[in-house]
Amino acid sequence: MTEAAPVHGFPVASLKTVRRYFSAAIRRERRATAAVLAFYVAASIAGLVGPQVLGQVVARAAGNGREIRSIEVAAAVFLVALLVQGLSSTAASRAAGHLTARLLARLRGDFVGAVLSLPVGVVEDAGTGDLQTRASSDVEQLTWSVRQAAPQMVVAIGQCTAIVIALLFTAPLLALVLLPTLPVLALGTRWYLSLARPGYQRTMASWDQTNSRVQETAAGGRTIETLSLAERRISQVDADIREWVATELYTMRLRTIYFPLTEACYVVPLVLAVLVGGLLHADGHLSIAATTAAVLYVQLLISPVDTVLSYLDEIQLGTASLGRLLGVSEIEKPDLAEDEPVSPHVVAKDVHYAYRTGHDVLNGIDLAPVPGSRVALVGPSGAGKSTFALLLTGVHAPRTGYVRIGGVDAHRLPTDRLRQEVVLVTQEYHIFNGTLRENLALASPDATDAELVTALEAVDGLPMLERLPGGLDTRLGAGANQLSPGESQQVALARLILADPHTLVLDEATALLDPRAARHLERSLARVLEGRTVIAVAHRLQTARDADYIAVIDHGRIIEQGSHDDLLAAEGSYAALWRSWQGA
Ligand code: ADP
Repeated sequence: MTEAAPVHGFPVASLKTVRRYFSAAIRRERRATAAVLAFYVAASIAGLVGPQVLGQVVARAAGNGREIRSIEVAAAVFLVALLVQGLSSTAASRAAGHLTARLLARLRGDFVGAVLSLPVGVVEDAGTGDLQTRASSDVEQLTWSVRQAAPQMVVAIGQCTAIVIALLFTAPLLALVLLPTLPVLALGTRWYLSLARPGYQRTMASWDQTNSRVQETAAGGRTIETLSLAERRISQVDADIREWVATELYTMRLRTIYFPLTEACYVVPLVLAVLVGGLLHADGHLSIAATTAAVLYVQLLISPVDTVLSYLDEIQLGTASLGRLLGVSEIEKPDLAEDEPVSPHVVAKDVHYAYRTGHDVLNGIDLAPVPGSRVALVGPSGAGKSTFALLLTGVHAPRTGYVRIGGVDAHRLPTDRLRQEVVLVTQEYHIFNGTLRENLALASPDATDAELVTALEAVDGLPMLERLPGGLDTRLGAGANQLSPGESQQVALARLILADPHTLVLDEATALLDPRAARHLERSLARVLEGRTVIAVAHRLQTARDADYIAVIDHGRIIEQGSHDDLLAAEGSYAALWRSWQGA
């Protein structure tokens, strides 16, 4: 089995881990699995009755049927067997459906749990695209494999086993006719799958390429005419089509070899069974009933073997997807701090940080705000203010130096613990599907209703609470009650009050306030900031003037610092900035 290479930023679990996860999951569902298998076994065994009955009927017609009394009895036995088979397969599919649904639900839960336990910085570093692929197409592939391929495969393998055992009991010599085909089928299938999958991927890729080139050409028709590019585009599309046809021909050639090969492997044993069975019967070694049943068994094998072969690929793809999903749990996390923060002091010391090795965007920043004070970070765009905000809130770890909260490295605090200390206030005020109560209590699950209402009151949210038909129990989100943008922001602000961190880092450019609702919400925000340390990336000098302390950042270092009046008196770059803003 091939293992998917870790093409993305995140690790891929090894085949061993995948197997261990799978067998642990099955062990947890021991009973359900046993029930499913029992139903399948019953169905398989019932399926074996038919050939035996038919064998007896043929023997009776040939004049030596002692074991079966009449055609009516044979028909009755046959009917009962069919009924048992039908009922057991239905029961088996139902039980398997429930089982796979539970397995998948658990897997999704584990995956979401693993994703949520990742530090934000790790996700940002590896890119969210990878996670999205895993959460969408890998989950889809795995769902398909587990729902469809796995049960079919189990059934088919069970049927094959049952049929071979029945064949061995009925006519062991005839079972030998199967032997020569096994290696041919195994090797042939291996060969086919190893070439077919990349082949189909190339077909898909060149189809996409052709498609997008044609669309691009049509959309940019005018430009292409203006620049006289038509000839070139046509020849490019021709080349794309030639490439596409070539890949189609390639997989078709593979199929024209593989399909006849498998067909032969199905038919040849059947012919051999009739031939050898006939000879054995003629020599008196095998009864006509046994010969008939054995030949029918060989024929019965074709369908399950075909199922196994056609689902092999799905199982492989499913295994690879499971490996990628489980790989998320193997992502390295920073070793978490054992200590608890002992004070509300946020201290940044000689902080250096680089997104790309060798290109520091922070060049040794020191900052130690007095708890409860307002600090404004000002400076030109690209100076490193937002980056510094991410380090202050523990999203990224400094390359050298440290950011400590109450003496503990911010990035080493577990996320839920960290958010009780310091929160980065952004524009993401998502309202989740759920009640207003659930939406408010996200960051503080133990809050009482009275606390929720107090928090809403603090941000002027009582009118909203009165408007909503079910009060705190009103369902919000898609398809339920919708909040206005302003109300959503009030919910987000109330969440902050409930989470009650001692420090807020506020990036004005991306901060909570929707300009349309700003005026109304300014007061609510002020209420949230009250009594907390606030470090604001200030884009309006208004904010800077109101701050207790201003740090002017340029090229990743603090070039000036002090109060508004100090900085004006110093006649430096802040003073220049202020004057030009005043003049404007
Ligand atoms: P400011 O907030 O002062 O405008 P930033 O912190 O956003 O500055 O950016 C500082 C520098 O870091 C800029 O040169 C910017 O291009 C770079 N930068 C910001 N974010 C990233 C990122 N995710 N990856 C790589 N470089 C980044």
